[in-house]
Amino acid sequence: MTPKSPHPSPNISRISDKKRAATTAIVTTPKEASCSYLDQDYNTQITTCQVSTEKEIIEIFQPKRKNAELLAESFSRLSLNSRAFRSLNCGTVIKFTHAITDQGIDPHGHLAEANFCRDRLCPQCSARRSLKIFAQVSKIMTHMGNSYEYLFLTLTVPNCSPEELDSTLTRLFKAFDRIMKRRNVKRAVHGFFRALEVTRNDQTDTYHPHFHVVLAVHPSYFHKSDYITQAEWLQMWRDSYGDQSITQVDIRKAKAKVDGDLGSVVAEIAKYTVKDTDYIFPGDPDKTDRVISILAGALKSRRLVQYGGIFKALHKQLNLDDPEDGDLIHIDEDLHPALAYVIFTYGWSVGAYKLTSRKILGDAKLIDPNAPDGSVMNIDLDAPINQIYKYPFDPKVIK
Ligand SMILES: [Zn+2]
Repeated sequence: MTPKSPHPSPNISRISDKKRAATTAIVTTPKEASCSYLDQDYNTQITTCQVSTEKEIIEIFQPKRKNAELLAESFSRLSLNSRAFRSLNCGTVIKFTHAITDQGIDPHGHLAEANFCRDRLCPQCSARRSLKIFAQVSKIMTHMGNSYEYLFLTLTVPNCSPEELDSTLTRLFKAFDRIMKRRNVKRAVHGFFRALEVTRNDQTDTYHPHFHVVLAVHPSYFHKSDYITQAEWLQMWRDSYGDQSITQVDIRKAKAKVDGDLGSVVAEIAKYTVKDTDYIFPGDPDKTDRVISILAGALKSRRLVQYGGIFKALHKQLNLDDPEDGDLIHIDEDLHPALAYVIFTYGWSVGAYKLTSRKILGDAKLIDPNAPDGSVMNIDLDAPINQIYKYPFDPKVIK
């Protein structure tokens, strides 16, 4: 299959004048006919959208998808066959939509559909999960507004050998539960979000599991007896983990202002659990298999992220889905109603994403007053002229 893009002159330009005028009407309204965006040719707008989406695909999706193939090969060698099958087929079809409003076509595309595998170690799904967690935590913290201040806590333990990773994680999770149940912590901390991160030291072949935690405290925390010093945090963590040799606990005040540094604070905790560069080694299948078998076993059935207290309550109240197993497609946007959508579909084929279809989908009535009720406009931008209009009678086509 050869890529169809770019299309300097999409077929839409060949449709009849009447239909062309009607189609153009979805991006214009008489009252705004003098707006400057109208100077931009409709085809140019679509091409701009396509170029922007393909840039994102090439820079972000394609490298992850290539690593998903290496992961699948490793799973297969390790006889983890169902995981191999799922990751091999992860993200092989991805659809991007660009909203058409009376302001024109949004050049920023949104992922609207994809066949993600959701495997813990899948590079593609991990990237989406990280974005999703970022979006969820940001939303929750924005909702909390100025009622809380935030502490950024990093809980580390000494590096462990590959054989010890599983038991170290079990101990780490128990220690976290213990420290959160301490009386002074319960008094001062009103909620938390915690994320597990595991890094690997390639020189020593050791693992470094640790928690990144955001704690919500009242603004009065810093002036009252509730305040917990760094030394107290360290001693509590030593006691909770049962290891007096731990030398460090990082605790600091996070910038809590919604329009300030919140993004960077959240970005730091919404990282990947394990970076794919720590377990996928192109050209070294033996090492890849060794590390993947350790991680696949140790991460199995663990809650990689967790909300507690006010974070948990708001997660529920805001109707957010499971950060690990929920929707990995629609993550960072509130869906704004659009008149119609330009939709680009890409399929994975021989090491690269190739464009497989370009469509405009929307309310048929907007361009054809005679369209049956509830029908959906479906313009195939690359179809022969006589097949351009279809009414599939499926209003649910637009997501
Ligand atoms: Zn995946």
